[in-house]
Amino acid sequence: MSKRGIQYFTLSEIEPRIWFMLTGCNFRCKGCFRPARDDGVGSLLSAEETLEKAEQACLKHYGQLPTKAMITGGEPTLDKDYLLTLVKGLKGKGFGEIVLMSNGYEIGREENGNYAGELRDAGLTEAHIDIKAFSEDIHKGYTGKSNKPVLKAVAALNDTGIELLIQTVYMPGIVDEKETEQIAIFLSSLNRDIKYRINPFAPTFAFEQVTRRPTIEEIEYAYELASKHLSNVIISRSCYREYPTPPSQETWITVYPDAKLTSKRRTIEDQKEDRISWFSHSKSKPREEIVHELALERERDDSDYRERLEKVTRRFSTSTSNQGTSSNKDKNNKKPRNSTR
Ligand code: SF4
Repeated sequence: MSKRGIQYFTLSEIEPRIWFMLTGCNFRCKGCFRPARDDGVGSLLSAEETLEKAEQACLKHYGQLPTKAMITGGEPTLDKDYLLTLVKGLKGKGFGEIVLMSNGYEIGREENGNYAGELRDAGLTEAHIDIKAFSEDIHKGYTGKSNKPVLKAVAALNDTGIELLIQTVYMPGIVDEKETEQIAIFLSSLNRDIKYRINPFAPTFAFEQVTRRPTIEEIEYAYELASKHLSNVIISRSCYREYPTPPSQETWITVYPDAKLTSKRRTIEDQKEDRISWFSHSKSKPREEIVHELALERERDDSDYRERLEKVTRRFSTSTSNQGTSSNKDKNNKKPRNSTR
């Protein structure tokens, strides 16, 4: 069994729930803000070792195993055997909600067969897939890869009947309302009730500041166009990989998969520090230079914009009621969940 890098596990302080942060990615999105994108971060573990460490971490902090797991990265699908073993193992340990967050590329590659069906059979209950762009040239230019496998993956996952959430980051001049509407039309051809979330690009911590953030009006217009084709469109924030909108939280517990299972209560400031170190290392720039660039960018990040976005985010979030075509769960009663990672 091959091994994958685990940067850390995150344990929520709002409800018992564990996040698996796998390292390495097959895309090179220009606006990526995840240090887990790179190989060589964290500890290399087999799926069995990952399960064992995760169980120890949960027992230490919660005194029991939670029932919810989120598998993210980086890109979690790169090694099919590893991922299927991890999902099966979680199901075997009683996890009832197992959520995968992915760019979808590997799931849709022909070489990987019916990866979507195998994930469902292993116990996966939900998938959050990014469609970065609908136009092939834009997708290739932004990620370095074709979007054809991604679109195939979305269709295949929809066929499995597991719950599906698709998301796109709105990037003015790159992925705008024409792209998001095309994505909405594609999704509606599969299932009009698929959840579709549009996130505004946030340049502050993007690896490359390829564009500005969108105006609230641009985002609302994209929402209106997409809503012509789909019944469950929402606007959220790019740092939220969940829906509707997670409750605010001050801290979460990060557990590193080292021999001692070192753990730390972390804050958003710690997360920023991680990203500063990542930029400094990956871009071979002194830390002071990165901090200076980020300070300049943050000056442009005015509080008025954030307040207006927050209002729009809340307003549209409350309309979410996607049932999917085959899901039997009552999602109207689903509580918002936190965004620790
Ligand atoms: S944004 Fe996600 S898919 Fe894109 S490079 Fe970063 S980790 Fe990979």
